[in-house]
Amino acid sequence: MEGIQLIVNLDRKMENEEKDRDKFCIYRVVYEDDKVLAFHDINPQTPYHILVIPKKHISTLTDLTEEDKELIGHIYLVINKLAQDLGFAERGFRVVVNCQEEAGQTVFHIHFHVLAGRQMGWPPG
Ligand SMILES: [Zn+2]
Repeated sequence: MEGIQLIVNLDRKMENEEKDRDKFCIYRVVYEDDKVLAFHDINPQTPYHILVIPKKHISTLTDLTEEDKELIGHIYLVINKLAQDLGFAERGFRVVVNCQEEAGQTVFHIHFHVLAGRQMGWPPG
């Protein structure tokens, strides 16, 4: 019952086709500030599976520009805080950004997967 479930499109000024590829199911928000939002993945792959996204629209990793440097640094500090607050900072966790279809990107608004809570393998699938 915790939290609400809604489909959110954070962006304006986008073509319809682009908007269709830019929708998250935002479920159980765990952190929000003026720049980023973090929430539980609706389809968790690990006991903890948080998505951290910038509020600014960036489609994918290769669209980052110089002006995003501070934002991306901020995202990693938020990830660090979540790891501390949720209690998996010491056990360990993984941060994954999938860039484009071949890597498994399905939503075209950049997002950082924070995965934790079980032993993980390498190489990843
Ligand atoms: Zn977007």
